[in-house]
Amino acid sequence: MSKNVFVIAEQRDGELQKVSTELIGKARELADDLGQEVYAILLGENVKAKADVLIHHGADKVIVVDHPLLKEYVTEPYAKSIYTIVERYDPEIVLFGATSIGRDLAPRLAARIHTGLTADCTGLAIDEETRLLRMTRPAFGGNLMATIVCQNFRPQMATVRPGVMTPMENDNDRKGEVIMEDVGLTDADMNVKIIEVAKEEKKKLDITEARVLVSGGRGLGGPEGFDLLAELAEAMEGEISSSRASVDAGWIEKARQVGQTGKTVRPDIYFALGISGAIQHLAGMEESGLIIAINKSDSAPIFDVADLGIVGDLNKVLPKLIEQYKKA
Ligand code: FAD
Repeated sequence: MSKNVFVIAEQRDGELQKVSTELIGKARELADDLGQEVYAILLGENVKAKADVLIHHGADKVIVVDHPLLKEYVTEPYAKSIYTIVERYDPEIVLFGATSIGRDLAPRLAARIHTGLTADCTGLAIDEETRLLRMTRPAFGGNLMATIVCQNFRPQMATVRPGVMTPMENDNDRKGEVIMEDVGLTDADMNVKIIEVAKEEKKKLDITEARVLVSGGRGLGGPEGFDLLAELAEAMEGEISSSRASVDAGWIEKARQVGQTGKTVRPDIYFALGISGAIQHLAGMEESGLIIAINKSDSAPIFDVADLGIVGDLNKVLPKLIEQYKKA
């Protein structure tokens, strides 16, 4: 009988990605509701040492597949490893991050196992009556939230947006089991040849990791508005982000867009400057710790979710705010 909640832990260059502990946090909740256990699957080369981190964040068991063919992410050996583990353990639920790796792996696995997959989820819960996984995701361009259940097939599978779920507090005293598995990988499983791995010189910007985000919208009036935002971001040791309107206008790169078609963020402090607060924008930031909005219109919907709001012209308010933060 299918049992337990499995999470595909993601690592790059041996470093666990934040989404892995976020997924384990949610898996813990689901498994506790079901009276089952949380398993993490960790693939790579020489990654066993990271298994403890997953246990400290809520996993009961970590299945490690350690193999030279898993050193860099390549679809086929990764897909075969996860497929083999799923066949051996028969999980009730399998969760992936909705990252480039998770989006590549999850549909392949679903097709091989002949089960369903709900992509890009923002909410997961166990239905009290049916005990099925209720998977919630935006649909119809974000105009409604769809809740999907997978009734007849196992495992129930979902990819989950990074930044949406909350990791458990790290507990170094937490104990669990590390299981080493051999899935029989051979050179025949490697259908590509890696000639060279070119590393990016600069760490790629990831607004989902920032503790402070200073976000600018159409109300900035042009790309030069972001220079002022950069000053505030620097004073607050934060990063710049934006609404889609600023991206569409070509004022800033897409990697900084927050929202339904951008990234989901959960910083400690989120400044929404000249952003109206459209539902598609709110979908990406409303879980932030403290939301501070500046807008010249007192009826802007952003004020409905803001903890602190200033009604005023950015061109007047922002320079004063920067001056104050620089002094502090
Ligand atoms: P506006 O809505 O034009 O708001 C500008 C605000 O600035 C206004 O409230 C105005 O009062 C204020 N303002 C103007 N001048 C000043 C000033 N001098 N001082 C202070 N305030 C000023 N949007 C996203 O952000 N992220 C997404 O991921 C996203 N995905 C979408 C997906 C779909 C399918 C669709 C249909 C839309 C999506 N959108 C998304 C677009 C979204 O609906 C809004 O159009 C967009 O968020 C508006 O951006 P904005 O708030 O910057 O601009």
